[in-house]
Amino acid sequence: MRSVLISGGCGFLGSHLIDRLLLRTDLERLVVVDNLWTGLLRNIAHIDDPRLGLEIQDAESFVSRHRFDEIIHLASPASPVWYMREPARTIRANIGGALNLLSALKPGGRFCFASTSEVYGDPLVSPQPESYRGSVDCTGPRSSYDESKRCTEALLFEQQRVSDLDIRVVRLFNTYGPRTRIDDGRAVSNFICQALTTGIVTVHGNGSQSRSWGYVDDIVTGLERFFWRDPIDHRGPLNIGNNCEISVLEIAEFVCSLVPGSRIEHHPPFPQDPTNRCPDLTSAERVLPGWEAKTGYRDGIRLTLEWFREQIATTASAPGG
Ligand code: UDP
Repeated sequence: MRSVLISGGCGFLGSHLIDRLLLRTDLERLVVVDNLWTGLLRNIAHIDDPRLGLEIQDAESFVSRHRFDEIIHLASPASPVWYMREPARTIRANIGGALNLLSALKPGGRFCFASTSEVYGDPLVSPQPESYRGSVDCTGPRSSYDESKRCTEALLFEQQRVSDLDIRVVRLFNTYGPRTRIDDGRAVSNFICQALTTGIVTVHGNGSQSRSWGYVDDIVTGLERFFWRDPIDHRGPLNIGNNCEISVLEIAEFVCSLVPGSRIEHHPPFPQDPTNRCPDLTSAERVLPGWEAKTGYRDGIRLTLEWFREQIATTASAPGG
């Protein structure tokens, strides 16, 4: 039986992963460490399972007398709006969190880390294989996130080189779906919330910049397959995402088509906004045979929109809402 710690478990992605973790019959104990910076208690409020314990603490200072078989380190904001507001805290969560949590791992234990496609920066190669070293400005406005993910990868791969640590690093491409915060600020959720509330969907720049949009259920299935697979023959980082690249404008137009009365407004581009992003999934196809992010953006956005519609209606009808 396995004891597992997950940092950032109250977040959008973390809470979905917890739902999958609790289906594991070999799970003895699951400790969630979250400081509720971007995570929300209500993301895990539906869970009633005696194996789950919650510690409301920073990943970088959490102290445990218990040593874990597996640690999954997700604690970090992922929205540019949030990480740019508190860059030092973002760096602490990623690097400090990894350094600290490593000491809570049993010898030979497994350390899983959610890195990001941001390690590729504004890529000059498309699609991006894991071997692409990226085009990142270490002094740019996104660097607290990009560079702390890169540095954490460096830490983990070096640790693996000098010890028997079992590390699993995924590079996640844009992920969206239910349980994103209403004020998260990333494109899909923002467009939906804007369309449902003010009716004005803000596209930064002309919207020709592209991303590869992965629906959360597909992405979590990829994580589950990679993180819990035993034994593993893949030692490097693994791209996980949807490889269908779509422009921001097309996403905004589709959201507007679902919400009558909503319209697009163009705003100045974000500084150093990457122009494109698309995973090369050759490694994922080999390591996770049969897995693919199969939900197209139209279906995924419809599902996400229905969820947000309910959330917004519930908030509006709540006392004081
Ligand atoms: N974006 C936008 N309007 C918004 C939020 C995002 O035009 O309200 C654009 C943003 O400029 C970027 C893309 O959507 O080009 C994806 O942004 P997001 O914050 O979702 O993720 P990231 O930039 O980290 O890929």
